[in-house]
Amino acid sequence: MNVEDSRQMMGLLKLLGCNQVDDVYQADIVILNTCSIRAKAEHKIYSELGRLKRLKEDKDLIICVAGCVAEQEEKSIIKRFPFVDIVMGPDQVGFLPELVTSCLKDRDTPPKKTYRKTGFQLKDDYQFLHVMPEQKEVSVKAFVNIQKGCDNFCAYCIVPHVRGREASRPSTQIIDEIKSLTQLGVREVTLLGQNVNSYGLKENNDITFAQLLERIASQTELKRLRFATSHPRDVSDALIEQFASNPILAPHFHLPLQSGSDRILKLMNRGYTRKHYLTIVEKLKKQNSHLCFSTDLIVGFPSETNQEFEDTLSVMKDVNFVQTYSFIYSPRPHTSAARMPDDVLLKEKQMRLKRLQDLDSEITLKQNHSDVGTVRYVLVEAVQQENQKPFMGRTEHNKIVHFTSKNVYHPGDFARVTISQANPHSLFGE
Ligand code: SF4
Repeated sequence: MNVEDSRQMMGLLKLLGCNQVDDVYQADIVILNTCSIRAKAEHKIYSELGRLKRLKEDKDLIICVAGCVAEQEEKSIIKRFPFVDIVMGPDQVGFLPELVTSCLKDRDTPPKKTYRKTGFQLKDDYQFLHVMPEQKEVSVKAFVNIQKGCDNFCAYCIVPHVRGREASRPSTQIIDEIKSLTQLGVREVTLLGQNVNSYGLKENNDITFAQLLERIASQTELKRLRFATSHPRDVSDALIEQFASNPILAPHFHLPLQSGSDRILKLMNRGYTRKHYLTIVEKLKKQNSHLCFSTDLIVGFPSETNQEFEDTLSVMKDVNFVQTYSFIYSPRPHTSAARMPDDVLLKEKQMRLKRLQDLDSEITLKQNHSDVGTVRYVLVEAVQQENQKPFMGRTEHNKIVHFTSKNVYHPGDFARVTISQANPHSLFGE
């Protein structure tokens, strides 16, 4: 989501006549678009700001801290880093041109000010930004925002506190954006939201998520559709059915589990049980036997016992996730889990993470080996003629494939590739 927000920010600055540069030393405006989902990501921002302070001593530079850390730590950023010019929360991206213009106008008139725009826009008035990329910036894949914010308040998660309440973007805007993107050459779109499964449920006059998927397939020229991210509690039967009937929906479901223990799931305020999660997976596999799953997992949540951690490993083995994104629990400000004792020792958390990631590598490699001999439908993303395997793309399951061919392919083409070799993180084929 931050990647898409960054793209929108660059688009807005281009309207002011700015160009993107590759090297921070060439820049006149530097934006740190921050993430506060883990403590580690937040700490990185502070060391980066230290580096930028030295740069600003040598050069007249506008420094903007945007994103979730800006929302969460506005006052502390202004106090600790007075050289920062703009602090802007994720709900306020549309104000970036205005903030930069004010900053440029006043920069020679002391005293130095910090321009700030944080807080949340009212849900009913929320305007989704719609900055189209230029033709030269378009790749074969694109993200499209369909939702903002989250109402779920999972015990460990800072998102509702920094991105505000959930609001769904009108379906007509989404479909129009996808139509424009396909005209620019986009073949694959990933729909983005914190909990896409509840798309439209809180607005009275729009369609559900399953209906949105259906309309995108029937009303646009898009070739492949993905979405992220889902909440198991809100996976409807109509959505499950889409995996059987929707011709462009990729057979890959990213379904965050977080923990395999019912007691921990309850403490996390996730609103489902291990059994419910596995039942959804079963139902989905019945609709489409080619469907694969990826997930998010947290280790070392307050009071997690070794047996409860083992319960998470056992779900991993049951589902055979093609990929897991796993994290060590760290308390985040404002969350209810931050009031629980963080009582799993760091050393123990690290050991659990290592075991989990080792199991993940083992399962992924096994899954990749099971692709050998099969034919995959690959969207070509890059061509490097000098390579022995010059074509690179991704399968329906989002796995990277390098392949050879007598035919000539270009980015955006689809190729049927016979998989001949499996590696831990990619496949080879022809
Ligand atoms: S559903 Fe996702 S974004 Fe929302 S609170 Fe839970 S973990 Fe955070």
